[in-house]
Order: sequence, then structure tokens, then C-alpha cells
Amino acid sequence: MSDYQTSVLIIGSGPSGYTAGIYAARAGLKPLIFTGPQTGGQLTLTTEIENFPGFPEPISGPELMSRMRQQAENVGVQIVEDKITKVDLNSRPFICQSENGHRISADSIIISTGATARWLGLESESKFLGFGVSGCATCDGFFYRNKDVAVIGGGNTAVDEALYLTNFASSVTLIHRRDALRADQTLQTRLFNNPKITVEWDSVVDEFVGTDTPKSLTGLKVKNVKTGDIKEIKVDGAFVAIGHHPNSELFKDWLDIDAEGYLITPPNSCKTKIEGVFAAGDVQDPHFRQAIVAAGSGCIAALEAEKYLNELKSK
Ligand code: FAD
Ligand code: NAP
Repeated sequence: MSDYQTSVLIIGSGPSGYTAGIYAARAGLKPLIFTGPQTGGQLTLTTEIENFPGFPEPISGPELMSRMRQQAENVGVQIVEDKITKVDLNSRPFICQSENGHRISADSIIISTGATARWLGLESESKFLGFGVSGCATCDGFFYRNKDVAVIGGGNTAVDEALYLTNFASSVTLIHRRDALRADQTLQTRLFNNPKITVEWDSVVDEFVGTDTPKSLTGLKVKNVKTGDIKEIKVDGAFVAIGHHPNSELFKDWLDIDAEGYLITPPNSCKTKIEGVFAAGDVQDPHFRQAIVAAGSGCIAALEAEKYLNELKSK
């Protein structure tokens, strides 16, 4: 006997999970969301969102996510603060188990477990996260008009972000731990030709430096890994771009995942290789990783789940 029975189990409470919930509830499917360890998802880590339509003034990440939750609850989504720890995608209905010991049976599942930005893991990095330290140039670059910023990383994301930031910032320092970039040659050429960008090679951030009141980043202590020398550079913003990790571990024995761990879905669809199991948002999006895109794919997943359940009923 299961503790919860539902036609649609949504795993995750970021923009994709809540949007899937809103669509599924409005289709009369009585969906159930398991929030997971980070209720509200990645946006709860950021201070101001300026690129989610519908909010003419910037809205804080936690506030936006709390409104999405409220909207989901208002249309009848049941939300459980618990994490899914095990899935059986062989059985019909699908069976899942949660951290708090619940057993859930579901006719369909929407996986919205998102991705986790990789961070350097320094105490000073967490201290200034949202106060000068960011994980997303597209989201926060706008705040650094005519200011000095740094980007940490040497892959495509770091170079993309450095180039993007030159639209706003006066100077961009790319800090990379080796003497060669991992990024594609085309991007590298654009980077090296951009007069606003300088590269600190063989360098790592030793400390994010700033003021306590107001809490604000003012610079970075950068260590040259070859010489051991540490120097301080003045920056108003630092973008950590050392990769993302999709939260797909739970599904790796059941579904197709790519070399970087993203769940594979066909173009313009959230279907996985198991009928009735859908994946939406950052967990299946290696390219855009934006809240509005995640919300859009949550919508697609719910519409596809509705169609699947209707077909199941008529069989
Ligand atoms: P996520 O938001 O990652 O949510 C994943 C959810 O899955 C979480 O609720 C988590 O608890 C849950 N979960 C994980 N594992 C389990 C499990 N086993 N069981 C149950 N639940 C589970 N995008 C923008 O468009 N604009 C911005 O300004 C912006 N700023 C950002 C700032 C920062 C610091 C970061 C890190 C990202 C930012 N992004 C921004 C990107 C945006 O946050 C993501 O694209 C978006 O949140 C992805 O939504 P999602 O629903 O796919 O997943
Ligand atoms: P990535 O390719 O894994 O690169 C991560 C970068 O961060 C690497 O340069 C790595 O250094 C560095 N790094 C990792 N951990 C670090 C640490 N602890 N300290 C300092 N530096 C660290 O990740 P990504 O750039 O986010 O790209 C992910 C995927 O998305 C890739 O497949 C990429 O091609 C794709 N993508 C494509 C585009 C595009 O085509 N325009 C844009 C963005 C992303 P090392 O080089 O020394 O390992």
C-alpha cells in the first residue's frame, strides 16, 4: 500500500516543477510535487531576477519561487517537502520512495530535478554569493555596467560569459587554473581579440574579498599556482563558471543520459525512453539553463503527461 497515489508525480520544485504542476492541476490531474532538498530550486540562491517576464521591477529569487509555489497550491497542486531517494520505473504504476520513508505510486512522472552549479567551495565565496559573487552572467551581468568583473573558469561557459559581460563591464578578467583554455577555438579567438578582456593564466581564487556593511564584493585574492604568488585584483563582480552538474543520478540506471549527465529527450519534447516518464528543465538542458526555459519545458512535460494519461485510460 502506498502513502501517496497520484496520476502525476513531479520530482522537484524549481520553475520547471512548479510550472508542470500548474498545468497538470489545471488539466484535472491532481499532481503531487516532491520539493527535494532545495525547495524553490536554484533561483532561491539569487538576489534579483530581471529577466523573468511579468515583473517590471526586479524580483528576488526566493520571492519569485514563493509566488510560483503559491500559484501551484492555488490551482490544487499537493506539495510535499521531501526528497525522492529511489525509483522503480519498471513497475506500473511507477513506484518511488522518499527520504522520509514514504512510498509513492504514480501513473506518470515528471523529472524536474534541475542542475547544481559547481562552486569553488571557499567560505568567502558563499559569504558573497548574491552580493557580488554570481553563477550566471546572463542573469546578473546587467548589474555591472561600467564596473570591473572577473570570470572564473576556462570552458565554453566561462568564455561565453566573459564575452557577454563585455557588453556591460569596463573590464573583464578571466581567471583560469591552467595555461590553456578548454573552450572552443572560435570562442577563444573572440576572447583574445576583445580589448576589454585580460586572462590571468595558471591562477586560482584564493579568497573573495569585500565589505560587511553593506555586504559587497570588492576584490579577489588570486594565487598563481606555478609561482605561489598571491595578488589582489579589484572587482565589483565575480562569476564562477566552472561547470554545472545535472541532478540525474537517481535515473542513470533507467534512462538515457549524455556524457555530462543530462537526461536525453528528443527535440521539442520532454519524453524519455520510458513511456510515461518525462524530463523537464535544467536536468535535460545542457544549453540554455534559464528559468523561463525550464518553466516552458515544465509546461511541455505536463501537456505530454496529460496526453499519455488520456491514451492510457482509453486502452
Ligand atoms: P532547479 O531550479 O535546479 O530546481 C531543481 C529542483 O529539484 C529543486 O527544487 C530540488 O530540491 C529538486 N530536486 C533535486 N533532486 C531531487 C530529488 N531527489 N527529489 C525531489 N526533488 C529533487 N535563470 C534565469 O532565467 N534568470 C536568472 O536571473 C537566474 N539567476 C540564477 C542565479 C544563480 C545563482 C543560479 C545558480 C542560477 C540562476 N538561473 C537564472 C538559472 C535558473 O535558476 C535555472 O535555469 C532554473 O532554476 C532551472 O529550473 P529547474 O526547475 O529545471 O531546476
Ligand atoms: P566545462 O567544459 O566542464 O569547463 C569547466 C571549466 O572550469 C574548465 O576550464 C575547468 O578547468 C574549470 N574548472 C573546473 N573546476 C574548477 C575548479 N575547482 N577551480 C577552477 N577551475 C575549475 O564546463 P562548461 O564550460 O560549463 O561547459 C559545459 C558544457 O556545456 C560543455 O560541453 C560546453 O561545451 C557546453 N557549452 C557550450 C557553449 C557553446 O557552445 N557556446 C557554451 C556553454 C557551454 P580545466 O580546463 O582545467 O579542467
